[in-house]
Amino acid sequence: MSAWMILCVLLALGLLWCLYTRRTLQPCTKEREEQCVQALQERQASQAHLSETERSHSAPDISSSPTESVVSVPEKARLLVVDDQPTNARMLANGLVGEYTVLIATGGAKALEIARSELPPDLILLDIMMPGIDGYTTCRELKNDPKTSRIPVIFVSALDEAHEEERGLNLGAVDYITKPFNLPIVKARVRNHISLKRQADLLEAMSHVDPLTRIANRRHFDEKLSAEAMRSARHETNLALMMIDIDYFKHFNDHYGHGLGDECLTRVAQALKSTLMRPADLLARYGGEEFVAVLPETDDTGAMQIASRMLEAISALQIPHAYSKAADHVTVSIDVVSSRVSSRTDAAQLLQRADEALYRAKATGRNRVEGYEL
Ligand code: GH3
Ligand code: MG
Ligand code: MG
Repeated sequence: MSAWMILCVLLALGLLWCLYTRRTLQPCTKEREEQCVQALQERQASQAHLSETERSHSAPDISSSPTESVVSVPEKARLLVVDDQPTNARMLANGLVGEYTVLIATGGAKALEIARSELPPDLILLDIMMPGIDGYTTCRELKNDPKTSRIPVIFVSALDEAHEEERGLNLGAVDYITKPFNLPIVKARVRNHISLKRQADLLEAMSHVDPLTRIANRRHFDEKLSAEAMRSARHETNLALMMIDIDYFKHFNDHYGHGLGDECLTRVAQALKSTLMRPADLLARYGGEEFVAVLPETDDTGAMQIASRMLEAISALQIPHAYSKAADHVTVSIDVVSSRVSSRTDAAQLLQRADEALYRAKATGRNRVEGYEL
């Protein structure tokens, strides 16, 4: 009888433990995963837009811009099989096509073209002996180009000498498979490398996100600013920058505590982000309670409109701030600059001017938008 009671108690404890881990552990892991995927999607959307602007640079039209990112993380990984013998390529592709989206190229030049396209493969299976650009040269070019250097390459070759394998691996390939290959082993190797590539992609995306506010971080902003400065120079379009700073935030922290301070920062960041309409626009946490927005192809009028929208969005949050001298709720001060830039240095100077304008917004009473006269 007592043994039954012990068993019942143990079962009840086990049940409670299961419920506890379901409630506490699963949402945490899922949230983290969603954060990674969201970050990855945003980077892909931003990259897709960049190539889009390369093709056509139309006049800025803020009102009719799309509001959602249109690129999603592909469910199936994409493999590129490169072999000058179509039968060889097809044989390998047929063995992999159920699990992956498989593309075929019959030469190095075509392989490079696909790898540099807007939807590059996640992994390349590369033959060595090919007419024209051979596999070694293709691999070297892939690894020398920052746009393609992160795509893992597996050599699949009839060359079975150790020094050939060594040469391939020294060129940056992740693996070397000799022909005739064993399909189950090829599949296992591909699966392992795809899994590593996915992890690397997620880490890369996470390294561009501010963990507290879940918007882009300073590193992401710096990269974006360099890219957009070059684009502004090439297409002779305006680049707008905004500095946004929460008013009297030190008082907020001092009186309400850092926990509520953090929550306030997150809500402000998300509200600011919701006012940006184009996939190419970027809001980043610049540091502390300061944010920065990069708006490509945007003139003063357009940027001022967005800044006013931001002011309203923060006011609409109605986060009480009894210790602010600007209002009874949390407010921000924003400054806006827009100009054509011809280099990264120009863009840095533009940012400097934005910072100066912010001082003016603060000096003239806060909770306002200030523009820099160029
Ligand atoms: P002003 O209106 O002139 O901008 O004044 P301010 O108090 O907002 O600016 P100040 O630079 O004096 O203080 C910024 C404060 O932001 C200091 C710090 O308490 C707070 N802060 C910075 N980073 C964080 C953070 O990650 N979490 C929290 N909770 N507070 C932060
Ligand atoms: Mg402040
Ligand atoms: Mg500040």
